[in-house]
Amino acid sequence: MIIELKSTVSANDCATFAEKHKAFHITYEGKNYLITGSGVKEIPTELETNTSEHWVFANDIQLASKRFRSEKREVKIGNVSIGGNTKNTILIGGPCSVESEEQIRSSAELLVGMGLSTLRGGCYKPRTSPYSFQGLGLEGLQLLAKMRTEYGLNVITEARDATHIDEIIEHTDIIQVGAKAMYDQGILRACAKIKKPVLIKRGFGTTLQEFVQAAEFVLAGGNENVILCERGIRTFETGTRFTLDLCGVAWLQEHTNLPIVLDPSHAMGYAYGVNPLARACVAMGIDGLLIEAHPNPKVAKSDASQQLNYEEFKQLQKDLQAVAASVGYKMI
Ligand code: PEP
Ligand code: MN
Repeated sequence: MIIELKSTVSANDCATFAEKHKAFHITYEGKNYLITGSGVKEIPTELETNTSEHWVFANDIQLASKRFRSEKREVKIGNVSIGGNTKNTILIGGPCSVESEEQIRSSAELLVGMGLSTLRGGCYKPRTSPYSFQGLGLEGLQLLAKMRTEYGLNVITEARDATHIDEIIEHTDIIQVGAKAMYDQGILRACAKIKKPVLIKRGFGTTLQEFVQAAEFVLAGGNENVILCERGIRTFETGTRFTLDLCGVAWLQEHTNLPIVLDPSHAMGYAYGVNPLARACVAMGIDGLLIEAHPNPKVAKSDASQQLNYEEFKQLQKDLQAVAASVGYKMI
């Protein structure tokens, strides 16, 4: 249940009520809310006179639910915005992993030349094998941060676990919670305490309900800047790396108030499918795309088969503009 407290209730009393009722307390647009589990169906008696509005839910998708906030939340990424009424589809690009200064600088220059704002690059890679390239760690993060300063780009990188979350928060503009890390309570709770945008990727064996509940951890903890990212789920199909769940995207658009970014690169696993899939995604009226691009995909240290080369990436931007316009969106 979400309870909106009357404006006459003091901040101290809000905190006392929250503690007593084991509820989260958040302040949103100047109003105070208490959030309990969805099992609570009636306003506790002592809160009745202090409540101005309340919402009862069938399950724990509460703050992210359209029933609570029907309008899509706006999230600011540096000097650009997505969601809300912006009708912006942000194109985030860059390599799977930061591999060297030369490589990440070439990506930064590519983005600046294309008028794009946000550079991706993994530093702490959650690889499936311990023998694969694990990322440059802090060195990579520092390179990414250098590009941020030198080129004025926003940067996004993923947290593999909670041990380096503070470094990531310090050096990035969006914190990426990867598909394998979206259940990591240390990461989610750390992301709840900040105000920077958090992009949560759907685990490949995660239901939509579980996915949105991960977002609830961040929202209920006080950070309203959450973005959902669909990146493919595991099905019986082996011809492609994963299966991009566009039905799930329609479900999220119908039921949640969070901006949605899609990652066709990881879903497809092969560069040839990224452009057509990205066009299908943009046709759904989405808030962003996360696309892997590398100066020379053949020699990439991770996800070589799915990364676009720079010509393909530039062509993608061109192709998407018309698709976005046809659904009233603008590629940014
Ligand atoms: C990535 O973005 O490089 C990545 C590892 O993504 P995911 O968590 O979706 O596998
Ligand atoms: Mn990757």
